[in-house]
Amino acid sequence: MSSVTVRVPAKVNVQLSVGPLREDGYHDLVNVFHAVSIFDRVEAKESDAITVAVEGKWADQVPVDDGNLAIRAARALAKHAGRSYGADLVIHKEIPVAGGMAGGSADAAGALVACNELWGLGLPFEDLMEIAGDLGSDVPFSLLGGTAVGTGRGEELSELPTGGTFHWVFAPAEGGLPTPSVYAECDRLRKESDAEVPWPELNERLIEALSTGDAYALGSYLSNDLQDAALALRPELATTLDAGRQHGALGAIVSGSGPTCAFLAIDATHARDLAASLTATGAATSAMAAHGPVPGATLA
Ligand code: ATP
Repeated sequence: MSSVTVRVPAKVNVQLSVGPLREDGYHDLVNVFHAVSIFDRVEAKESDAITVAVEGKWADQVPVDDGNLAIRAARALAKHAGRSYGADLVIHKEIPVAGGMAGGSADAAGALVACNELWGLGLPFEDLMEIAGDLGSDVPFSLLGGTAVGTGRGEELSELPTGGTFHWVFAPAEGGLPTPSVYAECDRLRKESDAEVPWPELNERLIEALSTGDAYALGSYLSNDLQDAALALRPELATTLDAGRQHGALGAIVSGSGPTCAFLAIDATHARDLAASLTATGAATSAMAAHGPVPGATLA
């Protein structure tokens, strides 16, 4: 095989509960991931060395050196297999960069699946999940897709049943937000307010809304403990969220660490209308309609 292409989805967190700061600097999380139909494509072509190139609308914001997560994933896979394999990776980028939608993790997951195929390794899914876990806490979910809850630091994943398709609108914001800065701001705001931070618990009503496919209930239970921090760093996002609610969004939250704003729509038509209204009124510079859940990294 001389070339393999894999399609990998973005994610939104429908619940992101962040526990108290631990002594090791991490937080215990309850993180309900939901894969949505905004896809990066990762192509792996036969080569002697591991290289990466990035195409598409966010390409100029993505590193093409060893800092690229797809390169790190390919290297980790070659190491696991105990050989010095090569691959020219080409990422076709549709997922906003540093947008809280796990775009880098998606590319890492895509590179794992593509190189496993290109190099004829035939490693089982469980092995890829293990390598993914070492690459970053969102990478296993990018492999898995669907809807799943992550606990611990987010790395212990369990699939969640969903009863139908949910329709979304995503409004990326210029500039991105580095995830570590948002966690740091969250810790700072909590220290300032001195309120006790509860242990993160899965919201059973949200799980029920997912399993019954009840978009109205899901909209009312969407939650993100990083949202206050993202809004403190980017106050203009509050206006975008309000605009979405005014246009009938069932729920409006910052996606993960932001700054992408996520809006739950009633159905596909409402999602298209909502996306058009957000851009026409200037509340968002761009907006993409999408649906979820969708599968994780899949051979195209
Ligand atoms: P998350 O939601 O997992 O916290 P994010 O969506 O906010 O992540 P990413 O798009 O994954 O953020 O990018 C975070 C940073 O990682 C970028 O600023 C970029 O420098 C770096 N990066 C490395 N590899 C990639 C990649 N393949 N695609 C995008 N960013 C990458």
